[in-house]
Amino acid sequence: YSEEEKTEDYLFKIVLIGDSAVGKSNLLARFARNEFYPNSKSTIGVEFQTQKRILMEKKLKHRSGIQQDRNALGLLHLHTIEVPWELSWSMMLVGTSHLIALANGLMSFIEIIYDAHSDMNVVTILIGNKTDLKDAREVSTAEGKALAEAQGLFFMETSALDSSNVTAAFQTVVKEIYNILS
Ligand code: GDP
Repeated sequence: YSEEEKTEDYLFKIVLIGDSAVGKSNLLARFARNEFYPNSKSTIGVEFQTQKRILMEKKLKHRSGIQQDRNALGLLHLHTIEVPWELSWSMMLVGTSHLIALANGLMSFIEIIYDAHSDMNVVTILIGNKTDLKDAREVSTAEGKALAEAQGLFFMETSALDSSNVTAAFQTVVKEIYNILS
């Protein structure tokens, strides 16, 4: 006999964080609607948007042992390659518990997030956005990568303008969350 394979859809929360004007709204707009706004107003503070999107076409096989209701959080921590990432930034947000964190820099912010979600699986990917602005680049790929690696984070460079790596960035987070849960 063949046992019927169960399939299960997963819903993951993914939150974009980062300083004002790094490209959060546009990365999301590019990903969700394939749109880009050259003169969009920067997001100041917190922006909540809900998007539904199939990230992985193949249905994930249900395996016993997975807690279906277990919380997981994906963070896309955006920077722009135009500005050195050591610069502190003001305020950002965050996800499921609607925590708003104030922090002076990357490290402390990430720590706050992890503290607040210590019962959750948090996957963070550090992103250098606006790679199309080649002449304005202040953070090299190697620097970004090193910064991410030092913190045990994933790393990717994107451009919401020319679309490069936008889908890949979201997919990476989803895949890594799924790997943790399975
Ligand atoms: P947010 O404040 O982080 O949400 O940033 P926005 O998405 O509003 O973007 C701020 C500005 O940067 C806008 O003028 C966007 O058009 C621009 N922008 C966003 N992403 C890119 C990108 O990948 N390349 C370039 N050249 N500009 C971008």
